[in-house]
Amino acid sequence: MNRFRVQIPNPRWFEENIGCENACPVHTRAPQYISAIREENYNLAFELNRGDNLFPVILGRICVHPCEKKCRRGLLIDLPISICSLKRACAEFETHARQKETAAKKKDKKVAVIGAGPSGLSAANDLARLGYSVTIYESFPIAGGMLNVGIPPYRLPRQVVERAIEEVRQLGVEILTGAPIGKELNLESLRKKYDAVYIAAGAHKAEKLGISGEDLQGVIHGVTFMRMVNLKQELKIGQRVAVVGGGNTAMDAARSSLRLGAKEVFILYRRTREEMPVDPRELEELEEERINVHYLSQPIRVLSKDGTRVSGVQCIRSRLGDPEPDGRRRPIPIEGTEFDIDIELLIPAVSQSPDISFLPEEIGLEISKWDRLSVNPETFETNVPGILAGGDFVTGPRDVIQVIADGRKAALSIHRYLSGEVFERKPAYFTPIPECQVDPNLEKIPRQRMETLPVQERGSMDREVELGFSREVAVKEAVRCLQCHIFTVFDRTKCILCGGCVDICPKSCFRMARLDEIEGDEKLSKLVQSLYKVSLEEAQKLNVASVIFKDESRCIQCGLCVKRCPTGTIAMEEYHRESTLYRGEQG
Ligand SMILES: Cc1cc2nc3c(=O)[nH]c(=O)nc-3n(C[C@H](O)[C@H](O)[C@H](O)COP(=O)(O)OP(=O)(O)OC[C@H]3O[C@@H](n4cnc5c(N)ncnc54)[C@H](O)[C@@H]3O)c2cc1C
Repeated sequence: MNRFRVQIPNPRWFEENIGCENACPVHTRAPQYISAIREENYNLAFELNRGDNLFPVILGRICVHPCEKKCRRGLLIDLPISICSLKRACAEFETHARQKETAAKKKDKKVAVIGAGPSGLSAANDLARLGYSVTIYESFPIAGGMLNVGIPPYRLPRQVVERAIEEVRQLGVEILTGAPIGKELNLESLRKKYDAVYIAAGAHKAEKLGISGEDLQGVIHGVTFMRMVNLKQELKIGQRVAVVGGGNTAMDAARSSLRLGAKEVFILYRRTREEMPVDPRELEELEEERINVHYLSQPIRVLSKDGTRVSGVQCIRSRLGDPEPDGRRRPIPIEGTEFDIDIELLIPAVSQSPDISFLPEEIGLEISKWDRLSVNPETFETNVPGILAGGDFVTGPRDVIQVIADGRKAALSIHRYLSGEVFERKPAYFTPIPECQVDPNLEKIPRQRMETLPVQERGSMDREVELGFSREVAVKEAVRCLQCHIFTVFDRTKCILCGGCVDICPKSCFRMARLDEIEGDEKLSKLVQSLYKVSLEEAQKLNVASVIFKDESRCIQCGLCVKRCPTGTIAMEEYHRESTLYRGEQG
């Protein structure tokens, strides 16, 4: 007999059933801020975001939003909620002049951060709020890391980045730009001057393709190209540009080349569209801008007519073989399918890695076989006490929300190292919902599309392409949310097993079964023992009872079961928790 596996809810179960929040590296309370938007309380929505992910104004534009992949609406009904775009709406429509965020009582300890990218900034933000004096050393003339020297302004306007950095400065964080940590000013001297150091120097070393001709003039690697574009350095773009790769850097390099005057830009990608690790929305915008992607094509040689400058690229077609460890299928070149393309600029944008050359050997930092600084993945501590590292620097390229999470966790580790104090997570709590309000047309509202700049107006690097939601559209999108943070809570002492909830549920969440049709863990056994004074096995043999259980993953929080229940067994309650990471004031 097939048995239903049931679980008695525990704190982890509740977390896992709020898919969006659970998938976010900083556990942003998305359902709560979406509820606030539904009530047009943009200030609260902003505060919830600022507490969790620190830079909603940035992330609302460029976050890779792992939350949306786990959105119950997307898994159950149609397309996920535009959680990311709603984040942007709350940053745009918050109205109150926020009080200056106050830091805790000053502590006498000082922390240095290497790198003013999102990971360094997030660590500095939290450390300053904990009362530490923080100085960030940044080698570029501007702060922001890849937010300013990688991602182009037509996707992330510079005043938006500046606003986020200003919020960190306002907490008293000193940001020294044009201050590389290397030979003159080195890690050893920082160690002497500061009580702890967080290294968040990113991954800025371009990975090469490893093909002949890659050193010719007119070959500029993706991160270098984007840095030159963003720092407005002189660049010879030419008429025809080929970009190699399928990630963010490749897309940005291609779209930037077009804005900087190229007549024809195309992308060479060795897999298919399905394997491309970019947001489909971005791919759509790329296609609107008439950038051709040659799928299943890869470069094998850079060509030159004069032996100095690139004049073309030889490519070969590929087919897909078995999946690689990351799940994507391996491209296999097909012999005899070589073809040449004339170009003036080749931008290989396949990956980048951290440059660890500034770490002095004498300190004895442990380096992994991949040439990366080794850290404890939970605490971000290196093997040398007081030196921590995180962000892209320890893993290679990732994304902004993940490196913010690293920075926040590292800040707590530094605090523990310097003060001995450990932050305990406050337990979640529930509040009753008097009446569940769900739009009856909820399931019919389609995912709202964001307006974009007409293609003919996208000529400039500085004109933002995605225009954000209007207030009205934001509310409409927020109404689509199934509010997975609202749970049906059962008082089993009142249930008469009438099966009314089973009958009324439009999503067939409930099921009534005999005791011998279910199985579970020790908690279920204990519950049965306490209720019937016999073991689960005995109770199943005696068939002492029937049970009603619920598949939470199908619930749309319509509340019909609550209304139908004749004995008041079922109530709806809202789940709340404080930010998982530090956000409040101390001292
Ligand atoms: C073109 C491009 C587009 C991207 N698009 C997206 C996107 O849409 N969404 C997304 O989530 N992610 C995106 N990413 C990835 C994201 O930007 C990075 O994962 C993130 O910025 C990494 O943050 P970080 O703080 O670890 O490092 P970085 O942002 O790289 O910052 C590191 C900082 O350290 C400084 N530094 C380095 N060495 C030293 C030294 N010795 N002394 C002092 N300072 C030093 C660097 O100058 C830099 O400012 C993109 C990346 C690129 C390149």
